[in-house]
Amino acid sequence: MPERNATGELIFRGIPVSSGVCVGKILVLGQQRVQITRHEIAEADVPRELDRLEQGLLATRSQLHEIQQQVTQAMGAKDASIFEAHLLVLDDPTLLEGVTRMIADDKVTAEWAFHVVAERFAQTLEALPDDYLRERVADLRDVAGRVVNNLIGHNDAVDLTRLKEPCIVIAHDLAPSITARLDKKMVLGFGTDVGGKTSHTAIMARSLRIPAVVGLQHASHELHAGQTVLLDGFNGLVILNPTDQTLFEYGQIEERQKSFDERLREIHDQPAVTLDGAQITLSANIEEAADAAEVKLAGGEGVGLFRTEFLFLNRSTLPSEEEQYQAYQQVAAALKPDPVIIRTLDLGGDKLPTIVDIAQDTAEMNPFLGWRAIRFCLQESAIFRAQLRAILRASAEGNVKIMYPMISGLEELTQSNELVEQCKAELRAAGVPFDENLEIGAMIEIPSAVMIADSLAKRVKFFSIGTNDLIQYTLAVDRLNEKIAYLYDPTHPAVLRLIKLTVEAAHRHGIWTGVCGEMASDPAMIPLLLGLGVDELSITPPLVPPIKYIIRRLKLSECKELADFALNCESSAEILTRSQALVSRAAPDLFGGAH
Ligand code: PEP
Ligand code: MG
Repeated sequence: MPERNATGELIFRGIPVSSGVCVGKILVLGQQRVQITRHEIAEADVPRELDRLEQGLLATRSQLHEIQQQVTQAMGAKDASIFEAHLLVLDDPTLLEGVTRMIADDKVTAEWAFHVVAERFAQTLEALPDDYLRERVADLRDVAGRVVNNLIGHNDAVDLTRLKEPCIVIAHDLAPSITARLDKKMVLGFGTDVGGKTSHTAIMARSLRIPAVVGLQHASHELHAGQTVLLDGFNGLVILNPTDQTLFEYGQIEERQKSFDERLREIHDQPAVTLDGAQITLSANIEEAADAAEVKLAGGEGVGLFRTEFLFLNRSTLPSEEEQYQAYQQVAAALKPDPVIIRTLDLGGDKLPTIVDIAQDTAEMNPFLGWRAIRFCLQESAIFRAQLRAILRASAEGNVKIMYPMISGLEELTQSNELVEQCKAELRAAGVPFDENLEIGAMIEIPSAVMIADSLAKRVKFFSIGTNDLIQYTLAVDRLNEKIAYLYDPTHPAVLRLIKLTVEAAHRHGIWTGVCGEMASDPAMIPLLLGLGVDELSITPPLVPPIKYIIRRLKLSECKELADFALNCESSAEILTRSQALVSRAAPDLFGGAH
């Protein structure tokens, strides 16, 4: 229920999924939803109805391909890949069988059968205790709505690609295919009744950088076209008829945000160096070749983690060596002479491939402790070799380095290095160019790797600490399980001591250590990581400017004092408070924004 405050404003509260604030007139979608009713057909008309179904599916498939192409051009292949999932819905044998059976057995129209069967699927998914699967319901309903519209010849009532004036879109739900085509100049922001942080619509809003709030419950019924609202994507609010005072306050936040952004722009070409002269390498994490442009834009010094498994997801066949080479060399060439650290395949855990050749027949009891990353690669050596060859070939085009994920023992490292040597020999024999001095590093993500870091350090040129996994494996806390999320604790003294041991071992052997887990993207963790002696941070590209800003306002000497305190402290909460306080003192304007 919306709340009314003392000044008479009506406030709808939801979940903030894309930051920013906007004010404008509302456009309410979805009120013109078409009603589908049950119509029976004669036995003799069944073949014609099945034919209509086929035509409807064909039309939908071609629309989805068209949208996918538009989205690829506008937003890159990663965002467009969700339409692969939409296309898969159209080929789902169980769904299609259900629909054809219903047409034939119940003698009903194709649109009714499709609507009923798809809705049954959606309700089953909705009832599952898994947020991710529940949010895929939106994708299923999106495709089903499209098929039904095509069958009955109905077009979307409002074409969001051709709006005439700026507006804030309010809808019960916004299908990803609609969100992806929003005209950014005209749609100032959007709010929906349903949805969560990991829904594709939320992901799209962040990619488009449009402020968005989801989970507003009944807002689409209680708000009406033409009303003026303020949408606050930082705090998840939609305020109807905002007063001058509210507009003034939000205006000030926006001004502060703008002047802070201006400061960030000023340091774009400056190094990440502390006030007392310690230089940190600040690089970026990417998931596909197209992200390289964003790294440059953000001022990142190359790529510290290229998660190559995204090349292997959402598809039914393996990417060839050539396809991989194209992707890797594109990034290497774009960022040359800056380094690009290509992490070899880390499939498994929560990244499960749909590729027929490697999909698992049975679910593992403990996927994060199972057939994952380097373990998978060493068993599937043909796949690993193709990737290593592709990376080696790309090393001729720029400053490429290889990094192995999930090293748990020395044997895995030596076996992998041997495979690299074999691939090098093959390329040499064939006269294919590659960088003979290409550097190899290991991710430190498992406590056992920390404890043998001296042995590993003798055989690699760098370490990169994957704190996402190091925390989960050290504290025995599944990184995806929200029930025990309170135990997932980056400032746990055990985690900090393991980071310290890793850095010390690396430095003893003259190699550097980075951190590429999410811990490095958290402003509050920066003093601690610097104080523990980390040489490089690899973070999500949009955070490069603010993290660089923080580093430039810290003193390494203060960070070291903090780390010394933390290594002797028994309370993770106290460590966190102290680290946060140091950042707030050094960069107070970072927290003066819209929060
Ligand atoms: C990590 O574990 O911190 C890491 C960077 O790897 P991923 O998140 O891909 O497992
Ligand atoms: Mg990891």
